[in-house]
Amino acid sequence: MATSSDCLFCTIVAGDIPNDTVYETDTVLAFRDITPRANSHVLVIPKSHEDTLGQMADDDPTSVAELFTAAREVARREGIEDSGYRVVSNVGADAGQEVFHVHVHVLGAQKLGPVGP
Ligand code: C5P
Repeated sequence: MATSSDCLFCTIVAGDIPNDTVYETDTVLAFRDITPRANSHVLVIPKSHEDTLGQMADDDPTSVAELFTAAREVARREGIEDSGYRVVSNVGADAGQEVFHVHVHVLGAQKLGPVGP
């Protein structure tokens, strides 16, 4: 499994920073965002380090699929699968990506506004 020594989310995967885990598999970890932007806001990350979703799509497309499957399981566990939820990933600087370890945001448990800048 790839890790990056200066990566915050790799530190979370290693268990060196506590997190509020919602769901976990051998390859994926889902935990509550520390600054929630919706009533339910969970991050789904691969345990193995990749910088961006775009890079991961090139390097390991199967793992991209696992992230979205895990996002659905998170929605199920949060009780928002039927009411609707949003899965979004910021890719790169202009999108506002702050943590360069792949993650998708799963947002819901409320009516969400339109996607936009
Ligand atoms: O997509 P972006 O890179 O901006 O998202 C990073 C997310 O990681 C932010 O929503 C931030 O609140 C979250 N975060 C966290 N726990 C940390 C540091 C950041 O949940 N310790």
